[in-house]
Amino acid sequence: MRTLSKSSKLDHICYDIRGPVMEEANRMAEMGEEILKLNIGNPAPFGFRAPQPVLDAISGQLTETEGYSDSKGLPAARHAILHYEASKGIPNLDIRDIYTGNGVSELITLSMQALLNSGDEMLVPAPDYPLWTASVTLAGGTAVHYICDEQSNWYPDIEDMRRKITPKTKGIVVINPNNPTGALYPKELLEQIVQLAREHELILFADEIYDRLVMDGKTHTSIASLAPDLLCVTYNGLSKSHLIAGYRCGWMCVSGNKDGAKGYMEGLNLLSSMRLCSNVPAQSVIPTALANLNTTKELLVPGGRIYEQREYITRALNDIPGVTAVKPEAAFYIFPRLDRKKFGLVDDERFALDFLRKKHILITHGAGFHWETPDHFRVVYLPEIEVLKTACGRLAEFLRDYHQN
Ligand code: PLP
Repeated sequence: MRTLSKSSKLDHICYDIRGPVMEEANRMAEMGEEILKLNIGNPAPFGFRAPQPVLDAISGQLTETEGYSDSKGLPAARHAILHYEASKGIPNLDIRDIYTGNGVSELITLSMQALLNSGDEMLVPAPDYPLWTASVTLAGGTAVHYICDEQSNWYPDIEDMRRKITPKTKGIVVINPNNPTGALYPKELLEQIVQLAREHELILFADEIYDRLVMDGKTHTSIASLAPDLLCVTYNGLSKSHLIAGYRCGWMCVSGNKDGAKGYMEGLNLLSSMRLCSNVPAQSVIPTALANLNTTKELLVPGGRIYEQREYITRALNDIPGVTAVKPEAAFYIFPRLDRKKFGLVDDERFALDFLRKKHILITHGAGFHWETPDHFRVVYLPEIEVLKTACGRLAEFLRDYHQN
């Protein structure tokens, strides 16, 4: 009888929603222990509700959305996406080059599968949203990580990016606003990335799912708007801006210079039709959602939940001896640093496990985001301030006498 190999080609890939820390949390939960989960960017469990117009839109269209749609999505949804992305200055958009997906997640995987051959390299940030590295690897490519620099607001280190480009490099992934750091990149920095892509004829992959969760009066620039002469793929969706992660509603649009991209686009079309289509009721809310962009804005200004929670978590973490954290400008994540020497840190996964077992709080260690030095972790600051207070209090207590050696 043929024996099945028990390993997977993704075995060596870290992914923050699996692995020993998650398994331990599940085991503890099964034993009836209460775990405070600060590990996943899912707004609904923390009391965030979908905007009413979106709820009305989905319930009003259920009977009309029972069948498959065009494999790229409902025309009305794609027109609304085209209008939205064009309003951000993205050039050369065509309705035929807009794809809806079961979340951005599906489209990241699909677009890497369509592009990469064995040995191809993709520049991916470190820290990254780990699905990117996993998708590049699953497609047979190699994720080459460029450093985002904590000393410079977690902005990408352009020189490091430049050093890591080889003849095998196909593209650059830019996650802006960023998960896990919460950084928002200024236009000047994006222009430098575009210039690098231009010099080496690379494709830009722009994950912009947090573009509508920006604070402090700042604005988000779509990198594709700066690169009319390059091939760009921009990803966005409603999971975060409209607090409906469970609907699985995302999209991707191809823009800019599409000369020479015919084969790639055919690959995208093939893979898109192989999954038949994305969730049609979810697609049906896109026109309403994109006509109601202000429904969650109140969360992001002084007095709003996300804003105030960001203010609190940044202060509280920086008040803990041995912890420092750059203040995020967007999304709802913060990526604090632990003093490696003070805590004798050699293994950040062990830190996350020790903290979980002792204090029943689930965070994600830095290696889960391909951050090599074992001295960071990510906190999702979606819970109310009272809950964050409890979490920070327990962390301070835990770290008071924590040492790994
Ligand atoms: N991209 C980034 C940077 C994310 O943080 C996430 C989810 O947390 C996704 C993509 C996936 O989003 P979706 O719910 O649309 O699949």
